[in-house]
Amino acid sequence: MTLSKKIVIIGGGLTGLAAAYYLQKEKAEQNLSLDITLLEAGPKLGGKIQTVYRDGFIIERGPDSFLERKASAPNLAKELGLGSELVNNATGRSFVLVKGGLHPIPEGAVMGIPTKVKPFVANSMFSLTGKARAAADFVMPAKKVAGDQSLGHFFRRRLGNEVVENLIEPLLSGIYAGDIDQLSLMSTFPQFYEVEQKHGSLILGMKKSTPSSNQKHSVKKGIFQTFKSGLQTLVKTMEEHLTDTEIRKGIRVVSIQKEEHAYSLQLNNGESIAADSVIVTSPHLSVPAMFGEDPAFDYLKSMKATSVATVAMAFPKEAVSMDKEGTGFVVSRNSDYTITACTWTDKKWPHTAPEGKVLLRAYVGKAGEEAIVDQPDDVIVKAVLEDLQRIIHIEGEPDFYYVSRWKQAMPQYGLGHKERITEIKEAMTQQYPGVFLAGSSYEGIGLPDCIDQGIAAVKQTVFFLSKK
Ligand SMILES: Cc1cc2nc3c(=O)[nH]c(=O)nc-3n(C[C@H](O)[C@H](O)[C@H](O)COP(=O)(O)OP(=O)(O)OC[C@H]3O[C@@H](n4cnc5c(N)ncnc54)[C@H](O)[C@@H]3O)c2cc1C
Repeated sequence: MTLSKKIVIIGGGLTGLAAAYYLQKEKAEQNLSLDITLLEAGPKLGGKIQTVYRDGFIIERGPDSFLERKASAPNLAKELGLGSELVNNATGRSFVLVKGGLHPIPEGAVMGIPTKVKPFVANSMFSLTGKARAAADFVMPAKKVAGDQSLGHFFRRRLGNEVVENLIEPLLSGIYAGDIDQLSLMSTFPQFYEVEQKHGSLILGMKKSTPSSNQKHSVKKGIFQTFKSGLQTLVKTMEEHLTDTEIRKGIRVVSIQKEEHAYSLQLNNGESIAADSVIVTSPHLSVPAMFGEDPAFDYLKSMKATSVATVAMAFPKEAVSMDKEGTGFVVSRNSDYTITACTWTDKKWPHTAPEGKVLLRAYVGKAGEEAIVDQPDDVIVKAVLEDLQRIIHIEGEPDFYYVSRWKQAMPQYGLGHKERITEIKEAMTQQYPGVFLAGSSYEGIGLPDCIDQGIAAVKQTVFFLSKK
């Protein structure tokens, strides 16, 4: 490459930040002649990552942590010099609220799939019939399915309805805020299909492939990580490192037009800028309009995204107590509750609350139950407190609370999602060469998945430009 090539990254959430960071790194390491710009519609970077600091509390309004085993997040943290800032969650019991009663998640369960027989058999949340039905998994042969199937269909066939409704559904819908009977197995947890194909039994297969079952004497630590000063630390540090990237906040990309050898981006301030390559990381619902409603993006228009809200509440320690010791619970849909989950945050993450205080964080809103998210703050908080008081002894009102609404924020990967995304990307190679999609709407919603997609988009961009 001789002449400087201009790359525009749209969106300054984690995906866009990762793309900018790794592109800048690639530029430095390979001595590339690149001109990198990051455009963010909002007033600050981070997208869904938003940490609030108040009275010694560290409160996450959006995501609160990431899975340590997905290496891209801890790797990035270490590269940024934040290794010593990483902290794992305290291990503790988590519960499921089934038909109004709290039951511990059986020890060894991976996403609800039992890997240890004893704790599963002893668990009070399943009937004898439910346990017997789950045991059918040991002998049931693998079923080859051409194409996709829903998570619900897959798990119901292997483990029966009761295990699905009481354990798997509340855990998985907690991650996607979705309906497991609509969500795609192949776009969310393809590894479970692979385990079934390889081992037949899902229970035995998960037992074999779960490392902890072989490491009997390993020190117990939580599987999630965050930063001692909250996830905002990652955003702030990445921004500080982007010294060779032009960052423009409060700038929304309205459209992307193809010109003879490049692209022209129209911005909301009336300006237009040219780019040789574009990485689009804004959520999928923003994309079709950018391309003039080109039918190539029709799937993205129909792809749903669920609205949720988080409600963080601070209390004095003496005002809150619970009969059962634990770090939180998820709610099954057979329980008549508005909240979908609650984390006893200062138990799971002791650094998040000052001495003598309690921090609880509840979730509301999921597929088909999103109206609550549009209610005023006081109505949501009242509904949350009423629910919590059925399980936790809470005296008085919270010292303060934060209600954070996330409208159409949880992309729903429906059946065939993977194929539809592949089709869009193939169409883009023909119609919009050099423009790449990345982010939580496409190949994984977890923070590490977003980093991975940012990295993949950088590789595609550099390759594309090297051929230009
Ligand atoms: C409440 C909640 C809790 C979650 N909890 C976890 C968790 O604990 N762990 C985990 O791993 N994941 C979690 N997730 C998922 C994770 O937070 C997201 O998948 C991830 O942050 C998405 O990053 P992104 O960069 O792809 O998108 P976003 O963060 O949405 O960033 C996209 C950016 O694009 C900008 N933008 C939009 N349109 C335009 C435009 N036209 N021009 C310019 N900029 C534009 C937006 O302002 C935004 O900043 C959670 C999500 C939510 C909502």
